Amino acid sequence: MPIFEYRCNKCDCDFEQIVNKNTVVQCEKCGSKDVNKKMSLFGVSGTEKHVHSGGDCGGCHKSSCSTC
Ligand SMILES: [Zn+2]
Repeated sequence: MPIFEYRCNKCDCDFEQIVNKNTVVQCEKCGSKDVNKKMSLFGVSGTEKHVHSGGDCGGCHKSSCSTC
């Protein structure tokens, strides 16, 4: 099962969640559904440094973006 990392837009916390087909992702702290999905942790060993210095890529929000 894939585990995704999310950041809550409301309380600005990070959390991980196993996501199934019917999973509704909510912040574990405040319960908000206003969350951003970060990179998948599935099969990743260690923490990969983000290639963009300013955080998420403004164009695509992917850490492995070759366009921007
Ligand atoms: Zn929250």
